[in-house]
Amino acid sequence: MRIILLGPPGSGKGTQAEMICKEFHWPHISTGEIFRENLKKGTVLGKKVSTYLEKGLLVPDDVTISIVKKRLKKADCRDGYVLDGFPRSISQAIALEKIAKPDKVVMIDLKDEEIIKRLSKRRICTKCGNLTSTDLLKNGKCEKCGGKVETRKDDSPKIVKERLKKQRLPQEIINFYLVRGVFEVVLAMGTREHVFENIKRVLFRVRKKNDKN
Ligand code: AMP
Repeated sequence: MRIILLGPPGSGKGTQAEMICKEFHWPHISTGEIFRENLKKGTVLGKKVSTYLEKGLLVPDDVTISIVKKRLKKADCRDGYVLDGFPRSISQAIALEKIAKPDKVVMIDLKDEEIIKRLSKRRICTKCGNLTSTDLLKNGKCEKCGGKVETRKDDSPKIVKERLKKQRLPQEIINFYLVRGVFEVVLAMGTREHVFENIKRVLFRVRKKNDKN
């Protein structure tokens, strides 16, 4: 099953993508994560995208499409995957149709006020990369590995406002998937387990439909 997970920063899409992949044994492909990894390693791609990430702007389509194309060709994507944070422009959506049509596009939605509240609490572990919240830390350290946590550069209030303004999912993309009958919205309110149950319900429906065909 090819699943796309979309949603504003702070909607918990990364967490949900990981939960889905663990349950269904699919790879989690996050364009944001690929960019951050390259930035950390100082690769050519990292250098190319650093200004965009630091300013909260979208990386140009040609760069993003080519990394996704390359990643989806790998053998681990054969039986399915969760694509997290792609497409974010209509050109990306059109390009993806040519690579592999998604079975379902799930948008996790959340109000701006809630996003800002959540992101002000969000921390990233410098040791294991776990994205967490100040509510979950154990003695101020990562609840998973005990590593030191910090605020992600692009989670500063100024950059968050910019990301929300510039990175709202274009209605064009929603329409694109609505007419193809694969679009679904799941509200990001409640616990992560509650949101996950709602997403699972959607995925089981897709699986049932695929099994019938
Ligand atoms: P995310 O972790 O999904 O919030 O992405 C972090 C950053 O990576 C974004 O603020 C963008 O600068 C960049 N990025 C991630 N995915 C895309 C995409 N599909 N198109 C363009 N830029 C992206």
